Amino acid sequence: MAAVPDEPLLAAVAVDVPGQDAFTWRVPEALAAVAVPGASVTVPFGPRTVRGFIIALERKTPEPALAGKLKDVLAVRPEVRVPPHLLRLIRWGARYYRCSVGEFLAGSIPAAVREGKTIKVERRLVRVAGFAGKLTARQQAVQAALPAEPLTWVVAMQRSGGSRDILGKLVVAGALVELVEDADVLEVRLEAALERHPHTDEQQVAIDAVAAALDAGRHEAFLLYGVTGSGKTLVYLDLAERVIAAGRQALFLLPEIGLTPQLAARVRSRIPRTVVWHSGFTDGERAELWRRVAAGEVDLVLGTRSALFAPLPAPGLIIVDEEHDQSYKQESVPRYHARDLAVVYGKQLAIPVILGSATPSLESVHNGRERRYRVLTLKNRPRGGQLPTPTVVDMRREFNEAKRRAELSRVLVEALTATVRRREQAIILLNRRGWSPVVTCTQCGVTAQCTACDISLTFHRGAGLLKCHYCGHERGMPAACPACGGTLSATGIGTEQLEQLVRQVVPGVRTLRADADTTGGRQGHAKLLQIFAAGEADVLVGTQMVAKGLDFARVTLVGVLHADRCLSTPEFRAAERTYQLVAQVAGRAGRGERPGTVIVQAFDPEALPIACAVAGRPKPFYDAELALRAEYGYPPSSGLVRVLWTGPAEPAVRAAAETDGQRILDAASPLGAVVLGPTPAALAWLKGQHRWHLLIKAPSRGAAQSLLDALGPLKRHSGVVTAIDVDPANTG
Ligand code: ADP
Ligand code: ZN
Repeated sequence: MAAVPDEPLLAAVAVDVPGQDAFTWRVPEALAAVAVPGASVTVPFGPRTVRGFIIALERKTPEPALAGKLKDVLAVRPEVRVPPHLLRLIRWGARYYRCSVGEFLAGSIPAAVREGKTIKVERRLVRVAGFAGKLTARQQAVQAALPAEPLTWVVAMQRSGGSRDILGKLVVAGALVELVEDADVLEVRLEAALERHPHTDEQQVAIDAVAAALDAGRHEAFLLYGVTGSGKTLVYLDLAERVIAAGRQALFLLPEIGLTPQLAARVRSRIPRTVVWHSGFTDGERAELWRRVAAGEVDLVLGTRSALFAPLPAPGLIIVDEEHDQSYKQESVPRYHARDLAVVYGKQLAIPVILGSATPSLESVHNGRERRYRVLTLKNRPRGGQLPTPTVVDMRREFNEAKRRAELSRVLVEALTATVRRREQAIILLNRRGWSPVVTCTQCGVTAQCTACDISLTFHRGAGLLKCHYCGHERGMPAACPACGGTLSATGIGTEQLEQLVRQVVPGVRTLRADADTTGGRQGHAKLLQIFAAGEADVLVGTQMVAKGLDFARVTLVGVLHADRCLSTPEFRAAERTYQLVAQVAGRAGRGERPGTVIVQAFDPEALPIACAVAGRPKPFYDAELALRAEYGYPPSSGLVRVLWTGPAEPAVRAAAETDGQRILDAASPLGAVVLGPTPAALAWLKGQHRWHLLIKAPSRGAAQSLLDALGPLKRHSGVVTAIDVDPANTG
C-alpha cells in the first residue's frame, strides 16, 4: 500500500443552495484517485445527504477552526464529470449572473445526471429517408432490408441480417440514426435535400473570415447579418463540417421555436452524428444524451439555450442562430443569456462564435459598430427571389373607408381569397391566443379578472373557459355577469376567433391554428407544421410561434394583424421587438419560386419600427433606436440590472424593496449609476405575489458588476424572494 500523505485532500464542493459557491469536505484516501474537479460527489450536508460537484481540490492542513468539523465525502461518481472547460464557464456565469455555482450547476446539468439515476434507455435505430450517400453493396442491402419503423439493435440485426458492425457503420455514414426519443422519428423521415451548392461570393467571404479564426486557433465573434433565405445555414454547416473534420465538435443554438424537424433533418443530412437537445426530453432521455455527448459520440449538438451546457469534450465552433431572440434569456435562476454566455465561452476556449440574424439585437449591432464583433453581411438570396415589399394597411383609415370595424382589412381578405384560389398557402399572425382578450359586463362594466394576477381573463370559446395567460388559472365562462346578472360581452380578437373569421370570409378554406393551445404535447408544434408543409391546410393562423424559422415554398401570402400592439407596452425593447417581428415575417413569404405578398395591418403604420421593417431599411431604425437607448441610459448604452422583490404580503415586499433600495442607491452613486425605484412593477400582482422592483442603469456592464460586487449579497427578508436579474430581457 502506498504511504498515506500527511496532509488531507480537501475538496471544494458546490451544492444546490443559494449564497455560498462551495463548501469543504475531506476526501478519504480510498477515493482520492477518482476525485477530480467536475466529478459528481455525495456529501453529508447538515442532516441530509446531497449531491454536488467538486470545483477545486487541494492538499493542505485544514485551518484549526475547520479541522474538527470537517466531514468526509461519501462517494464519488467519476463517470459523471463536468468537463473542466464547461465548469469554468459555469463558474464565470454564476459570478456574472449572481447566483451560487451550485445553483448554476443545478440549472444547467440535467437532474437525472446530477442525481445519478441509472435509467435504461433502449437505443433504437431508424432508417433515414432518402439517404443519398455512398454505401457498399452489402451495406445497401442491409439498409434496404430495414422497415421505416424504429427497431432495437437486436431486432434490427435479425430483420436485416446485418451484423452489429455493419449497422454501426451505417450509423456513422448517416444512413441510420440512433434515436433517443420517439419524436425524432418525424425528423428522420423527412427527406432533406443534400445541399452542396457552390458558395455565393458573400457566403465565401463569410466562410473565409471564420475559417481564418478557426485555423489560427483564436477567438473572434462574428455577426452574420443576412436576410432570411440568404444562406446563413449553409455557412454554419460548412464551417461546422470543417471543425468536425479536425476532430472537434460544434454547438448550434437556436431559439425554442426555431427547432423544427425540417432544420434537424437538414443538419443531420450533412452531419450524421447530430443530436437534438431541448427541454422536452424526459429525464432518462436527457441522461442518455448527456452521456453520449460527454463520451464524444456526437459531432454536433443542435439545441435551445440549455444546449450551451452540453458536455462536449472539445467544442471548436459555436453558432447562435436568430441571436436576437428573447428565448435565449432564462427567466429563472440561473438567469443567463445564452448568446452572451456563448461569446464568453468562445473567448475562454479560443474558438470563433457566429451570431446570426436577419434582425440583429441592438446589442449586437452596437458591438459590431464598436468593432467588438466582426460583421459579415449576406445581402442577397442565392436562389434569387426578391424579398417581398410589404403592403401596410392603416387600420384607422380602413375603418373610416369601410364604415365598419373589421379585423381583416379588405386588401387582406382579397389576397387571402386569391391565394387560396391559386392553391397556394398563407400564414396569418396575431400575437394573442384565445377568442377574446377581454370580457366585460355590458351593464355594470366589470371586467373578468384573474384572482391571482392584475390581468384580465381571456375567453376561450372552444373550451368554454376564461383563462389567465400568466398563471394558468381558469374557470368556466359564466352565462351572465356574476356581480349584477348583466350580459357579458367579449371584445378584441385572438387566434381562435381569427381562425373562424378566416373561414367566414373565405368559404371552403382549410385552416390550421398554431398557438400554445393547439401545440401542446411533445413536438405538437412540429407536427402541426408538418401538416401544413404537407399541404393539408391552406391558411395557418398563429401567434409569434409561426413568425420564425418557417420555410414553406408554397406560402405566398403572409398577413400580420395588430403589428403595432407591442409598441404600447412599457418595455424598453418594445420598438426593437416590433421591428424584428415585422421584418422577420416579411422574410417568410416568397421563399419558393413564386413571389410573395406581405400585408401588415397597423394603427400607426408610420411608427419607425414598422415603417423601416416594411421598407427593408434597417439603418434608420437602428440609428434612431440606439440614439434613444443612449439618451435614456438603456442597453447597449448601459449595464442594466433589475432587482425584483416578490411575496404574498404587500407590506413585507415593500419594506424589503425600500430597505434594499436604499443600500443599492448608496452603492450606485459613487459609480455613476442611476437607480430607478423601487416601485411596484408594471405587473404588481402576479401569480398570487406582490411585486416591487428597481432598475440600476450603470454606465457599462462592467460598472454594473462592480456595483454588485460592492453591494455584496442582499439581506434575506422573511416572506420575500429577492431576485437579481443582470441584463434583463423583461422589465414588466
Ligand atoms: P437562411 O439560413 O439565411 O435563412 P438558408 O441557409 O436556409 O438561409 O438558405 C435558403 C435557401 O437557399 C435554402 O434552400 C438553401 O438550400 C439555398 N441556398 C443556400 N446557399 C445557396 C447557394 N450558395 N446556392 C444555391 N442555393 C443556396
Ligand atoms: Zn393569473
